[in-house]
Amino acid sequence: MTRRIAVIGGGIAGLAACWELERSAPDVEIVLLEATGRLGGWIRTESWGDVVIEHGPDSWVAAKPSATDLACALGLGTELVGLRLERAGTGIVCDGRILPLPEGLSLLVPTRLAPILASPLLTPLGKLRFLAEIFVPPRCDDEDESVASFVRRRFGREFYERLAEPLLAGIYGGDAERLSLLATSPQYRELERDAGSLLRAVLRGRARRPAMPGPLRTPFVTLRKGMERLVEALAASLRRTEVRLGTVAVAIVHRGGVYRILTSDGTALEVDGAVVATPAAAAADLLEPLFPDEVVWFRSLPYASSAAVTLVYRREDLERVARGRGFLVPARERRPISAVTWVTNKFPERAPEDLAVARVFFRSGRHGYRDEAVPEALVAAALQELRVLTGCAAAPLHAVVSRHDRALPQYPVGHRRQVERLRSALARWPGLAVAGAAFDGVGVPDCIVSGWRAARAVLDGLGTRRASHADPAAQPLQEGR
Ligand SMILES: Cc1cc2nc3c(=O)[nH]c(=O)nc-3n(C[C@H](O)[C@H](O)[C@H](O)COP(=O)(O)OP(=O)(O)OC[C@H]3O[C@@H](n4cnc5c(N)ncnc54)[C@H](O)[C@@H]3O)c2cc1C
Repeated sequence: MTRRIAVIGGGIAGLAACWELERSAPDVEIVLLEATGRLGGWIRTESWGDVVIEHGPDSWVAAKPSATDLACALGLGTELVGLRLERAGTGIVCDGRILPLPEGLSLLVPTRLAPILASPLLTPLGKLRFLAEIFVPPRCDDEDESVASFVRRRFGREFYERLAEPLLAGIYGGDAERLSLLATSPQYRELERDAGSLLRAVLRGRARRPAMPGPLRTPFVTLRKGMERLVEALAASLRRTEVRLGTVAVAIVHRGGVYRILTSDGTALEVDGAVVATPAAAAADLLEPLFPDEVVWFRSLPYASSAAVTLVYRREDLERVARGRGFLVPARERRPISAVTWVTNKFPERAPEDLAVARVFFRSGRHGYRDEAVPEALVAAALQELRVLTGCAAAPLHAVVSRHDRALPQYPVGHRRQVERLRSALARWPGLAVAGAAFDGVGVPDCIVSGWRAARAVLDGLGTRRASHADPAAQPLQEGR
């Protein structure tokens, strides 16, 4: 008997789930339900002539190879590009001036001490407190805490406010005071416990930067024509998936041994299993009839909103001010923007040689930024911020505004336990699984892995035999990637 499986949500997690279902179970029918008129979710690229403009993510972390592996499996290997290494360096605003971010600090824990001790970003007292981390006793329980509390506890307030906060905002787009350490960076708690101190771990060489994998030898990878190429190639590779765009799923009920997915147009789809790959609130609505208690947490999962203005300039107009790949703006600077990326310094081939591109990021909750600001006001504010912080007064040739309303989930303290609780409840209903940024990590590679895992969980729950891939290229990609 042919089994039918629904995938709800056509973002990267849902598409990855469809891909894995097709590869692992050649005899299942797949129906992908997507609420909007397009696939890809937050991944969206547009072009202005030969300029590549990203609305959402612009790259992925190379150290998590699932996205690179998937791109290669889809035939996009020759389109992969890494960072422009000759334009290295990130700035950080301190009291209105752009100073260099100390080397070895791309993540929360420094991998080198000398550049931090030499940096003008910290006062002498701040540096002493930073070094005193060696004497801060490790926390050895399993209780969660916010990322902000962890960094302050270990390295002091100044290190947190001037360095860690803007880095965290760049990664999670939200408020580190509320972000769960165990759900976002559990490796730091492990380092603390195992080495007794993070600086001690650095001195012993245990907190090295992850090795840069792959032939590109770059910490971040993207696609020459933009991130949406991944979505296009993934969608084009699906042979047995019926894609229903403009279809909003509203609830999943179980009747007569099958799941019925009710949709907003009043119809119902009967399936043997389903992967729910929507944002948290929609997932909570869908699963509520089956798990009224376990979805409460996800219904109110906070999401951060932001906006970005992409500005295209004549190259000579940005050349003087655009140093390195961009700069971060800590919240303590009380400015509406959180970061600026010099896009054409960051990646090659983003624009023709005579043009340069900047991307200015606004963040909900930042001083002077309103979520409801109209596009013209955002462009004007972006130009004003560039003028004040970099001295760039040139008029851009083109401007594009991207809005990200409730885009990035902010895993609060306790999130990991709630995900485990939901997963154990799901195990009671074979054939159901969840995937996507709401659960197991917000990065594109995390979402891909969660889609793969959800697909396999559904097949395992239904007892559907997985294809034994004779062709090594068709092996299921490895767990943990
Ligand atoms: C501005 C921005 C920049 C980012 N930058 C990076 C970066 O540089 N690198 C990186 O790795 N990650 C980045 N991320 C994070 C990453 O892009 C996202 O976490 C990831 O794309 C989310 O994928 P998803 O499939 O889980 O969810 P989504 O992309 O949100 O897709 C969910 C889909 O479900 C659909 N849907 C919702 N409800 C229903 C329903 N009831 N029925 C049917 N369909 C429904 C939605 O329409 C949507 O298409 C960024 C995110 C944003 C917003």
